[in-house]
Amino acid sequence: MNIQVLGAHNCESQSSKFTCLLIDDVLAIDAGGLTSSLSFQAQQKLKAILLTHQHYDHIRDIPAIGMTFFLHQATINIYSTQPVYDALTTYLLNGKLYPNFLEQPQPNPTIKFTIIEPYRTEQIEGYSVLATEVNHSVPTVGYQVTSPDGKTLFYTADTGPGLAHCWKYASPQLLITEIIGSDRYSESAKKVGHLTPSLLKQELITFQEVKGYLPQVVVVHMTPTLEKEIEAEIAVVAKALNNPITLAHEGMKLHL
Ligand SMILES: [Zn+2]
Ligand SMILES: [Zn+2]
Repeated sequence: MNIQVLGAHNCESQSSKFTCLLIDDVLAIDAGGLTSSLSFQAQQKLKAILLTHQHYDHIRDIPAIGMTFFLHQATINIYSTQPVYDALTTYLLNGKLYPNFLEQPQPNPTIKFTIIEPYRTEQIEGYSVLATEVNHSVPTVGYQVTSPDGKTLFYTADTGPGLAHCWKYASPQLLITEIIGSDRYSESAKKVGHLTPSLLKQELITFQEVKGYLPQVVVVHMTPTLEKEIEAEIAVVAKALNNPITLAHEGMKLHL
């Protein structure tokens, strides 16, 4: 399994993009910095996109990828939960901001949306995909993705503390999770459903208690101006847990 981090931040500039992961060139998770990171050729290789929740920084490039596929008379598959579908159809793909690629063109609309249920394994383009609910300010799911050769990653999506129940379902070799800010923001992070280094540490301790091991950990969704502080604090956590924790960056490649 080859994973490319297309977006690793919660703000966008020339050098930072909204959160987005690409697996084996064909499966994207979230659509923050999706089209802005990929050539048209690379966009057309996409087979499916998994969305974790409705926040703008995770769905932003859906209309843009829709236009690429529309112009090539191709179809892109998007998977998520009912609340994400409802938000997309109400606010974004409603035919007012941009064409409604869920219904156009007929008879084969550009976007084929499939609603998934948490805790039920789906087969998507050869991958086993399991969504689990996480604690965020809107309904959000993390995804465990297992490749045909048995390699497994778990992406928590945007989440606050309280991931313990996910570990009953997930046994990843690679855990991609989030940190929004440094420890001085822990109280406000908890309120809006995000993590900081010390909050992540507690989640990893629980992971180890439940699973008996720790996976490789990669962190996305950082606030760019706090990245140096986060990096220093996460180094202390990694040392305490004796386990590598890496801050992701745009263009980062991981191999399982
Ligand atoms: Zn969010
Ligand atoms: Zn976000």
